[in-house]
Amino acid sequence: MSLDLLITGGLVADGTGAPLRPADVGVSGDRLVLLPPGGGPADGGGARVIDATGLVVAPGFIDVHTHSDAVTLLGAAGRELAAAPVRMGVTVEICGNCGSSLFPALPERVPALRRSSRAGFGGDIPIFTDYAGFVRAHEEAPRSNHLTSLVGHGTLRAGVLGYEDRPATPAELATMCALLDDALAAGAAGLSTGLIYTPGTYGDTAEVVALARVAAGHGKPYVTHLRDEMSRVEEALEEAVEIARRSGAALHVSHHKTAGRHAWGKTTRTLPRIAELRAQGLDVTCDVYPYTEGSTSLSAMLPPWANDGGTEALLDRLRDPGQRDRMRRAIEEGVPGWENTVGNGGWDRISVACAARHPEAEGRTIAELGGDPVDTAAELLLAEDGEVTIISHSMREDDVQRVLAGEFTMIGSDGVPKPGHPHPRLAGTFPRVLGRYSREQGLFPLEVAVHKMTGLAADRFGLADRGVVRDGAHADLVLFDPETVSDGATYAEPLLPPTGITAVVVAGRLAVDEGRLTEDRPGRIIGR
Ligand SMILES: [Zn+2]
Repeated sequence: MSLDLLITGGLVADGTGAPLRPADVGVSGDRLVLLPPGGGPADGGGARVIDATGLVVAPGFIDVHTHSDAVTLLGAAGRELAAAPVRMGVTVEICGNCGSSLFPALPERVPALRRSSRAGFGGDIPIFTDYAGFVRAHEEAPRSNHLTSLVGHGTLRAGVLGYEDRPATPAELATMCALLDDALAAGAAGLSTGLIYTPGTYGDTAEVVALARVAAGHGKPYVTHLRDEMSRVEEALEEAVEIARRSGAALHVSHHKTAGRHAWGKTTRTLPRIAELRAQGLDVTCDVYPYTEGSTSLSAMLPPWANDGGTEALLDRLRDPGQRDRMRRAIEEGVPGWENTVGNGGWDRISVACAARHPEAEGRTIAELGGDPVDTAAELLLAEDGEVTIISHSMREDDVQRVLAGEFTMIGSDGVPKPGHPHPRLAGTFPRVLGRYSREQGLFPLEVAVHKMTGLAADRFGLADRGVVRDGAHADLVLFDPETVSDGATYAEPLLPPTGITAVVVAGRLAVDEGRLTEDRPGRIIGR
């Protein structure tokens, strides 16, 4: 067999969690050929030979939680942002998370969805009526790594009944189920919800059960940003469990956290609960990013009714002093069923990450910007047309470590590729887990860290022949130096590349070579 690439002298972490072992790895076309050490042709037989002495050879990392849906569709504006994941070793990104995807929608709903989705995706982004449209657009936008998408419940809901705060009618729910069924049949990876976000939050448990049942019918998971990750996180987890039980879908909890002072330490309850459910036979997993700060839209700091009707309706309310007073009271007093981030923390824990027209505000907290904080937030949202991303300083280190260490926990960056000062998790997550948490803090051995980033994720999302180094598997690989691998990205410089990621192979081709992004764009949309 002729090889295109021969990687010699490395230690293989095969993605299963098995101990590191010396092996040579060949690439023939887009598949792997596993060889004993020194087992390849002596001169490479025409293959490019990479000396991996001192390096670990692992399956390419699978980032199970991204918001990279549109970044490669933004052209030059998105280029640097789009490069960040592959530079940290990610060969597959799963987007469409937190209830928000670029499809599907009824044609008449597309303009409103487009308008209200801009804040989340960093620009004027397309919305597609179906999965095929999404795939076609991406096929025309070259990318370094592979992408697959979940179907967002919020998108489905807005795509059928708009941004209204009301239950779906039976006919509307049937339409949502049919659109979901089509997308999953065409290759989408599962169903996601974002139950703190509008319009997802307007959907009740029964609505999500009906949709999750469709996912279950395709053997695909229900992936959820819980309705509350703060003081009511345990109740929110139980809602997700109920949805899984009633629908029969596997459950995946996104970016599991217990945030805000009322929830700190609650991972000592949620994680044993997940372990107990697994022991009872419920298929439940989660992902996490290795930081104590979260990131989302500034508009998500406002009560759900403030966003009723979409972005234009929100901006109208923000112009009205009476409505601002109502928002101020809601934040002070809370609203039943609403995860109130500011009420759980304070405006001094919310800093501006991306505000295109006000870069001087980036990196400063709403409290530091001065004035009445609700007025300050409202003026900023108005000036930015609703598009402001924030970072919330809301978690505790012991909770983050506890979630990371869970045997059912995989790694998801939750990267938000937007211009400005996006959360450094976009460019730092995977090397940070390997460097800070595995090597420096000894939270788990390196082969377990790799398993969380590869085999565990491939199993959950049905990515056949990925997440593993073995004969015949897809040739997606990452080579890194276990002694030096670490994250470079910071809050001040969020796109600084990591250290120690030497090469990244996607579909048998070098997407990163000697630490640098190549001109090759071998990535494609994957999905069964
Ligand atoms: Zn989320």
